Amino acid sequence: MEDSSSTINIENAEIQGDSMPKTRQKTSDVWNNFTNEEPDKDGKNVKCNHCLRRWKYECTKMGTSTFSRHMLVCKKKPKFGDVGAMFLNHDGKLRDKDNVIDPKIVQDLFIKVSVAHNLPLKWVEFKEMRVLLKYLNPSVRFISRNTHALDVMNMYESEKEKLRIRLNSVPGMLCLTSDIWTACTNSGYMCLTAHYVDEKCKLDSKILAFCSMPPPHSAPELAQKISNILVDWEIDKENLFIDFG
Ligand SMILES: [Zn+2]
Repeated sequence: MEDSSSTINIENAEIQGDSMPKTRQKTSDVWNNFTNEEPDKDGKNVKCNHCLRRWKYECTKMGTSTFSRHMLVCKKKPKFGDVGAMFLNHDGKLRDKDNVIDPKIVQDLFIKVSVAHNLPLKWVEFKEMRVLLKYLNPSVRFISRNTHALDVMNMYESEKEKLRIRLNSVPGMLCLTSDIWTACTNSGYMCLTAHYVDEKCKLDSKILAFCSMPPPHSAPELAQKISNILVDWEIDKENLFIDFG
C-alpha cells in the first residue's frame, strides 16, 4: 500500500562551494522526473515529466525540494517508477547499478529484517522508518502490515517446501528426537528435531516443530503428535529412527 500522505521535508543537496552558478550540474535524482526547458509565457521553465505541471525555476536561487515534494503527491507518477529512469540518470547515462531499486528486493529485505530480529509486523508502518526511506528514495513504495504478514508467511511456506525436499533426499537415515516439557504455567510443549548426515558426511539438524502439547505426555499421545507432524511435513522416508530420550 502506498503512503503518499507523509509530510517530509527533503532538501536535496546541491553542489556546494564556489562553482559558477550557471555551470552548476543538476546532480539531484529528482531530475529523472523533471525537465528543464525554455520558459513559457509565464516564465515557467520546468515541467513534471508525468503530469506536465510547470514551475518557474531559477537554479541559482532555488533548490529542488519543491520537486521532491511534488513527487510524493504526483498523481501521474508511474506505479513502480519509470523503468528507463530506474537505469538512466538525467544525463541519459546508465546509473550505478547499486542505485537501481527493485521493489521485489525491497520487499524481500523487509521480510529478512522481520524474521532475523523477530520484529512485530507493524514495524513496516513505523512513521520514522518510512520518513527515513522516503528521504533516501522519494519514489519508495511502502507496504502495509497485512501485506507484510502475507509476505512472511509465503516465505515460510517456500522455505518449508525447500526443507521438505531436502529431508526427503537425505541419503541415509533421518533420526528424530523429541523434547517434551511442562512450563510453570502448566502449559505443555514439544520440540521435534530431525538429525541426519548429509552427502558430505556432515551431521546436520533441523527443528521440524516447536509446538504446544498439553499433558498427558504418554506414549500414545506422543506417537500421535509425531505422526501428525510427519504427515504435515510429508516426510515419506522409510529410514526413520525415533529417539524418545
Ligand atoms: Zn507530476
